[in-house]
Amino acid sequence: MNHDSTTQYEPLRQAVRHYVTEEVIPLEREHGLTWNIAPPKDLRRKVRLRAKELGLYAPEMPEAVGGAGLPFLGRCIMEMELHSHDTVFFEDVLGGGGGPTPILLAGTRAQQDRFLAPLMAGETTTCFALSEPDAGSDASNLRTRAVPAEGGFVVDGTKNIVSNGPQADFGIVFAMAMGADGPAGVTALLIDSTAPGYDNSRSHTCMGFTGFQGEIALIDVRVGADAVLGEVGRGFALAMDWINANRIRTAAMATGIARRALARSSAYAMQRRQFGAPIASFQAIQLKLAEMATELYAAESIVTRSAWMKDEGQDIRLVSAMTKLYASEMVNRHAYEAVQIHGGIGCLEETGIERIYRMVRILTILEGTSEMMRLTVADRLLKAAPR
Ligand SMILES: Cc1cc2nc3c(=O)[nH]c(=O)nc-3n(C[C@H](O)[C@H](O)[C@H](O)COP(=O)(O)OP(=O)(O)OC[C@H]3O[C@@H](n4cnc5c(N)ncnc54)[C@H](O)[C@@H]3O)c2cc1C
Repeated sequence: MNHDSTTQYEPLRQAVRHYVTEEVIPLEREHGLTWNIAPPKDLRRKVRLRAKELGLYAPEMPEAVGGAGLPFLGRCIMEMELHSHDTVFFEDVLGGGGGPTPILLAGTRAQQDRFLAPLMAGETTTCFALSEPDAGSDASNLRTRAVPAEGGFVVDGTKNIVSNGPQADFGIVFAMAMGADGPAGVTALLIDSTAPGYDNSRSHTCMGFTGFQGEIALIDVRVGADAVLGEVGRGFALAMDWINANRIRTAAMATGIARRALARSSAYAMQRRQFGAPIASFQAIQLKLAEMATELYAAESIVTRSAWMKDEGQDIRLVSAMTKLYASEMVNRHAYEAVQIHGGIGCLEETGIERIYRMVRILTILEGTSEMMRLTVADRLLKAAPR
């Protein structure tokens, strides 16, 4: 990996910056949108269609399905830029959790025409429905069942804390569709959110933002055999492939937010005066800023290297866990210090600093908790240790 690997994406990074600051944030201001409610579907669609027009939407998807075939490294650089700004449309600018996902490349031609093509066009959104009330870290221990019936399946179960669940046009739903328990039994199903028995009306009030996650109740939902993505029993492998790559993207998100926390903190430290001098002149504040800048540099480096390794076709299972662990824990430390540097006004909603503090808390939990990341790292380390 050399210096050019990242500088070649500079025009794209600037294009993201320009779109977000000049069009997306003004749009949300015009409509008075806040993080207390998910943006309306029509405005989200508008943001996606414009992003598509600008060549920013889902750029890492292959050209064969309408993407730009951009290396994952480029996508992560765009992602870091996106999250260094604060926008409620964060899932729509580049096509985040609810946007086009490589997991659908495992689909048949008919499935890609029906589900992936409208996603790529920015017309629809999806959700990744794996977690359940009794299956979180133990993600293959699902209670949702897909029982064979009349050439297809009847699906019953409950999914929870599903990002974009309340607004998704269809769900990528993971269920046990065969006798085997555990990973070997997990099957991915593509289910239209308008299917009878599919109820996504219950959204969660989550720290940092409300209405973006929700529960999906599946009650006697009938699907054809053509709903199976890949093969019966291949769902867990598909899910883990996607999650491994997405952990790097989530780390890019954490790193982008950390950039924002540092930029806001250093600007405030220069401007805020106490004891007759800017607080930036106090070493206690300088040490915090220096620590944040150093860790931010480490996070940027680890994100870009791990993304590059994915582009090189290397095994990323270990590094994606390390990258997500480091960046998500790092941004939580930085959010704490950002509030501290801002003092009392850091706790007020109007500054946006307390929101960073609440928002980043989710990052050490989703796509695998920090404990599970550490266990993954330890497992790989010890397997390779001499006996
Ligand atoms: C904002 C947000 C968005 C999300 N979006 C999605 C989504 O789109 N799709 C989806 O399917 N899910 C989603 N999730 C769910 C998320 O993946 C789970 O919350 C996560 O995997 C943890 O599972 P859990 O909450 O059941 O915690 P649990 O698994 O119950 O863990 C509770 C605690 O026990 C610890 N623990 C568990 N097992 C072990 C172990 N073996 N060793 C040591 N410690 C352990 C955990 O680290 C944690 O500290 C989202 C969650 C959040 C917060």
